[in-house]
Amino acid sequence: MLNLFFPAFCRGCLKELIEGEKDICSICRHNLPLASFHKNGGTEMVDIFYGRIPVVHATALFYFKKNNLTQKFVHALKYKKAKNIGVIFGDWLGEELSACKEYHDVDAIIPVPLHKKKLRQRGYNQVEGFGKKIANALQKPYIDDVLLKITPTTSQVFKERISRIFSNDEVFAVQQASKIENKHLLLVDDIITTGATLEACSKKLLQIKGVKLSFATIAITK
Ligand SMILES: [Zn+2]
Repeated sequence: MLNLFFPAFCRGCLKELIEGEKDICSICRHNLPLASFHKNGGTEMVDIFYGRIPVVHATALFYFKKNNLTQKFVHALKYKKAKNIGVIFGDWLGEELSACKEYHDVDAIIPVPLHKKKLRQRGYNQVEGFGKKIANALQKPYIDDVLLKITPTTSQVFKERISRIFSNDEVFAVQQASKIENKHLLLVDDIITTGATLEACSKKLLQIKGVKLSFATIAITK
């Protein structure tokens, strides 16, 4: 009934959805450009971090290019309140990762955090649905109160000026570190481009005793 008044459209091709489809039509689902390094042993994403930080595994679901289908869905997820897109992609990747032996020793899932000001503006962290579904599938906890994004203090601004030029002005901090000691963490984000954000997060997390890191993102820039 609701669809008579508010027809549901695919967030990718904008065509009307048929019964049983939500946010993504089956044609778009089929046409999304798969990266899926976890399936084919691709090291493209691990290689981004070579010589910068140690990474155990890294995978992305899709390739991202300007104006491609992936961009349309990620845009809807980030800017059009289409939170369910993250849930769908999290289910998708979660199911695949739970079938990968390599990911079975992950102990917890941690999202790249938003600054609390940004969180208030947007109303949600766009990576939450994605991360929580992966956590469900792997039957591991989703921990979003350890890694925080903060406003740098004056001394940090000075100290981190050089590195911040390369890291998008992002400053991260860790609290309640004991929660993640000696754990293999799967850090999740929406898109990886240069890897600067994941690297900045990782540098904080790797200061905690015994932490190992893997990454999973919705998309990787090609
Ligand atoms: Zn579509």
